Amino acid sequence: MAEKEVVETSEAQIAVHWQEEGYYYPSTEFIAQANMTDKGIYERFSLDNFPNCYKEYADLLDWYEYWDEILDTSDAPCYKWFKGGKINASYNCIDRHLKNNKNKTAIHFVPEPLEEGYQHITYQELYVRVNEFAALLKDFAGLKRGDRVTLHMPMVPELPVTMLACARLGVIHSQVFGGFSGTACADRIVDSGSNVLITMDAYYRSGGLIDHRQNADIAVEHAEKAGQKVDKVLVWQRYPGKYSAKKPMVEGRDFFVNDLLKNYYGARVEPEKMNAEDPLFLMYTSGTTGKPKGCQHGTGGYLAYVTGTSKYVQDIHPEDVYWCMADIGWITGHSYIVYGPLANCASTVIYEGVPTYPDAGRSWRIAQDLDVNIFHTAPTAIRALRKIGPDEPAKYNYHFKHMTTVGEPIEPEVWKWYHKEVGKGEAIIVDTWWQTETGGFLCSTLPAITPMKPGSAGPGMPGIHPIIYDDEGNVLPQGAGKAGNICIQNPWPGMFQTIWGDRDRFVDTYFARYCKDPNSKDWRDWPYLTGDAAVEAEDGYFRILGRIDDVINVSGHRLGTKEIESAALVVQEVAEAAVVPVNHEIKGKEPDLYIALKPGFDASDELAKKISDAICEEIGKIAKPRKVWIVKDMPKTRSGKIMRRVLGALSNKRDVGDVMTLANPEIVEEIREMVQK
Ligand code: ATP
Ligand code: MG
Repeated sequence: MAEKEVVETSEAQIAVHWQEEGYYYPSTEFIAQANMTDKGIYERFSLDNFPNCYKEYADLLDWYEYWDEILDTSDAPCYKWFKGGKINASYNCIDRHLKNNKNKTAIHFVPEPLEEGYQHITYQELYVRVNEFAALLKDFAGLKRGDRVTLHMPMVPELPVTMLACARLGVIHSQVFGGFSGTACADRIVDSGSNVLITMDAYYRSGGLIDHRQNADIAVEHAEKAGQKVDKVLVWQRYPGKYSAKKPMVEGRDFFVNDLLKNYYGARVEPEKMNAEDPLFLMYTSGTTGKPKGCQHGTGGYLAYVTGTSKYVQDIHPEDVYWCMADIGWITGHSYIVYGPLANCASTVIYEGVPTYPDAGRSWRIAQDLDVNIFHTAPTAIRALRKIGPDEPAKYNYHFKHMTTVGEPIEPEVWKWYHKEVGKGEAIIVDTWWQTETGGFLCSTLPAITPMKPGSAGPGMPGIHPIIYDDEGNVLPQGAGKAGNICIQNPWPGMFQTIWGDRDRFVDTYFARYCKDPNSKDWRDWPYLTGDAAVEAEDGYFRILGRIDDVINVSGHRLGTKEIESAALVVQEVAEAAVVPVNHEIKGKEPDLYIALKPGFDASDELAKKISDAICEEIGKIAKPRKVWIVKDMPKTRSGKIMRRVLGALSNKRDVGDVMTLANPEIVEEIREMVQK
């Protein structure tokens, strides 16, 4: 990227820059304390220095045996990082911190019921709990290195304890988002070939205690019908000895962990010396575009990448209190609640429930009480908090030095609210663009080095070299002003190793499109296709426009859905916007616009027109929506992403297909009635 001078100033200020949004700069206070202030990092991680540059990340970890080959490409595009190295993730996240930091809080747990109070788990306590549970898994459940185990757990400290116990034994964990149904869990049990399911009896959400264990019965039944036997279901108890599931446990199959643990008090388990390339976990993609893919992540490469990016992008220091609001059931939670922060010896916050219950101030109260100074969330949560309590943050006494947004493109309007109200104009923001597949960040600014630009993720991370191709495979150069398919030219340590059990799908989905030679063992011949559309500005910043399939081609003009949605969000009444293409005989496609309003506003033809006019004004007549549909709510995935695929099907009168991963399936019929009447 082009070298840009960072103007150091204690006030966030805007420098105007061509057609893009202006830059925002970090304060001198932030820069003075940042982990990474050396601008030379981009040069050190240039393509010329690839792959040796990644030694710097590997050296953040403790190895039993140091690796001897940094990148083995003999089975490209299935790569092996840090070959010959022996390492354990649980050791790196816990044991190595005990010498100097055993009494430091590793995990702050915020239960939903206020009267339960906060729990603070030290590194020493985490060590004890992980060891005891690892002993149970080994001895009682008979799990060993290389076995897969499915976890279907809510947001409680027992979840990282379980993950780290698996990692200690070299057992491959596959956590299924706790809010998923038993059948969704079953699909993942079958795909991963797990014989053991670990779950919890209940958890709190929005004021109710949810009976969760019943999902295990459904999951096991469906899995067994599909030919996958589940021998044991291990059930953690939310309140040991108090609450237990309404349905009886299945004799000989279901066991309460808390009862069994009594046999393992004081047990210690030596961490397995894993090969760097042994799988650490499986994580299924969110399912926004179709059937989830089981991404297989390795041990040494993955851990090095999330440790390095947590340190340099999240700017985590051991003395920080870091709160990432994602669910551990998604990759964000694995990389940036559990593995990255704990490997950096931070205090990481886990909270139960939702940010908006019991009231709109909950997040800011937690931040105040725990003195959180690094905050990490998604545009969907930011929009929700802006919708229901735009003035809430000001009522609480907390100070963030750093904030992250991840998961979807963020509209500049929303970015600015996040910056001004949540960050109180003080916190820097990183907009991190990445995927389940990629393990860690692909594009982002480095907080003390590269200035922020609302709506743009930023340049490629050091060592990540994005490239934009058009459909014919021509490279769209920096500043071309055209959207194309964003790919990454090189592999990196955090990248997934394959799709579990399906190498062909891995190659077809992510590499076949721009592969230069299918027999090549050279990484240069295998650009990684992310599936997203993006524009690269003149300054080397990437703006993600949504998925390739979401780009709308109107009379030969490529319009990013996100651009139109951002224009709609300028209208004060609008809380959320989603654009989908509708087939048109002449123009090819036309945009249909779906809108959800902030509370207190009602749908009307005037308002629809006002929104449509705003888009014509911001972008031009070419983007004028065919129709503005004001709906009660958007169909969303469990991770809060708007399912444009479903809206697109409704607008085009097609079958909506699989809505299994939807959080609110009932809304589909409501919208259908409106759109197809
Ligand atoms: P599936 O692959 O199953 O359809 P998914 O792509 O939603 O689901 P994830 O891996 O959770 O599953 O999400 C990654 C995608 O989220 C990216 O490809 C991109 O479209 C979007 N995304 C993530 N972070 C950002 C960001 N900061 N800016 C823009 N888009 C983002
Ligand atoms: Mg995806």
